[in-house]
Amino acid sequence: MVAEITVLGSGTRVLLREHSMSGYAVSHRDFFLLLDCGGGAIRRALEAELPILYVDAIFFSHLHLDHVADLPALLWALDGEGHRRADRPLRLFGPPGFGNFFAGLSALYGKWLERLPVPVLIHEVERERFALGPWQIETFPMFHGTPANGYRLEAEGKILAYTGDTGPCEEIVMLAHDADWLIIECSFPDGHKMPTHTTAGEVGQMAARANCRQVLLTHFYPECFGVDVAAQCQKFFSGKIELAGDLKRLIL
Ligand SMILES: [Zn+2]
Ligand SMILES: [Zn+2]
Repeated sequence: MVAEITVLGSGTRVLLREHSMSGYAVSHRDFFLLLDCGGGAIRRALEAELPILYVDAIFFSHLHLDHVADLPALLWALDGEGHRRADRPLRLFGPPGFGNFFAGLSALYGKWLERLPVPVLIHEVERERFALGPWQIETFPMFHGTPANGYRLEAEGKILAYTGDTGPCEEIVMLAHDADWLIIECSFPDGHKMPTHTTAGEVGQMAARANCRQVLLTHFYPECFGVDVAAQCQKFFSGKIELAGDLKRLIL
């Protein structure tokens, strides 16, 4: 096992008790990161007994609130208790515009946010490759009508790819090429096409082209419930297909 992945939110902006907004925790030895941190993700991390106060990095796919809403609350918590981390920095990654978003929070909240007891490092990324902790990371712009990134993480020969929100695009194939796990948005079942989101059949087509081993379908709008989205995906993709649910765990 290289890493453990915990789903902190498998939902969207639709408010549902069973599906928090987007978030995924990835633990590799003592390096702990999140992919997105939407509303409810912190609560789910606490329920999963994950050390949310000590998170090393958060990779934000985009600025829609179902992906970033819990960040201000986490920063506020760190204002109170961040001294426990000593100098362990918190790195925040996001697509173009993320710096402005953080500057806006600082303008709104002022001094405490600028003087957190934790060093907070802001990184805007778009199409880059870099190392962080045990991971080699590559970022790809996605297609969502607003700046959006997908993140590809590799460690010890294992690959985890996360799309965030996106319509079908060539970059998904590059992002997910040969991935051991692809966490991919499956906002709608077939027949409910939205250009900036992906349907179950489209997920299957993208995953097959990318030659992934396993896919985790997630980011479900209510149209998905009561529909066999896994079967729609399976028409095109012969690898393992799992459906995300809050607190589900995967092994990478
Ligand atoms: Zn979303
Ligand atoms: Zn979105």
